[in-house]
Amino acid sequence: MPAARAFSTVTLVNGSTGDPVLYLDYPGADNALLFDGGENAGLTPAQLGDLEAVFVTHHHVDHFIGLDRIVRANMDRDKVLHVFGPADTIRKVYDRITAYDYPFFPFQKIVVRVTELLPGVRRTAVLECTKKFPRPEVEEQPWGGPVCYENADLTVEAVPVDHTVPCLAFALAEKSGYHPDPARIAAGALKPGRWVGEVLRLLRAGADPATRLEIDGGSFAVGKLAGLYFAESPGARVAYVVDTLWSEAVRPGLVKLARGAWRLYCDSFYAAAQLKQAQKYKHMVAPQAGELARLAKVEQLVLIHFATRYAGAYQALVDEAAAVFPRVSAEIG
Ligand SMILES: [Zn+2]
Ligand SMILES: [Zn+2]
Repeated sequence: MPAARAFSTVTLVNGSTGDPVLYLDYPGADNALLFDGGENAGLTPAQLGDLEAVFVTHHHVDHFIGLDRIVRANMDRDKVLHVFGPADTIRKVYDRITAYDYPFFPFQKIVVRVTELLPGVRRTAVLECTKKFPRPEVEEQPWGGPVCYENADLTVEAVPVDHTVPCLAFALAEKSGYHPDPARIAAGALKPGRWVGEVLRLLRAGADPATRLEIDGGSFAVGKLAGLYFAESPGARVAYVVDTLWSEAVRPGLVKLARGAWRLYCDSFYAAAQLKQAQKYKHMVAPQAGELARLAKVEQLVLIHFATRYAGAYQALVDEAAAVFPRVSAEIG
């Protein structure tokens, strides 16, 4: 049986043919995660304002142009927005933020905590709006990888890949224990809301099942809610791999990153016939995405980042991957 998962929505914002952008949201909490910072006009300011962390694979324009909208949507919020990326992410995020003049209203309290991940070391800087974005001090710490981020529900792992510029691949790994069951919550009598996170917190803290909670004017025992809407599960894994050569050097790291994933989103920029271009521009071809999915024994493979040269014939890329790994799909507009 597939692992229950805590995230309620997984949105491939531009499908498989636009900039690869993956948005994961959780029911009733402001803690969405975003993989890649490319074109994100498909997300509302409210969705962007729910973000807790953004994981940028690299700084090519199709993976980074959406940063301004992300910062803007969070400007008035009293929060810390985490941004992760490869070497030079601190300077690039700082340059982008400080490219604008701000009125510096007192309610603009955003703090952007930027972490760049390099071999053996992680470098962090805090960009603060209330201080009018002075040049940040960078703190360096040894980093053995792969975990780069952790909260109560999940960890995010990062591994370096082999692209024309420094580039990372990411995976989200939910912690084992109680998880909301999105299907049962969607079908249930109670509207999803903040209670989901509250019940989850109580269950994970080992609360007495008789503990009662007021929800929408009713009173409910935590034990009853657990049985109705939650499941114990090892937690789901989602892997996100873009813009890399499928080389001997990166293969073991990527297979480990995607191992047993509920879903692997994987670069499939080229068809097999364009292997030479794929090697030159350091992308994967569709059958290689299938090979990664097969080696990592994932449940589902979703191909992303199709080159526009295949417009009208995108299905051929899916067919190529399917010959290697059958449980494959793509979101073709
Ligand atoms: Zn790239
Ligand atoms: Zn790209």
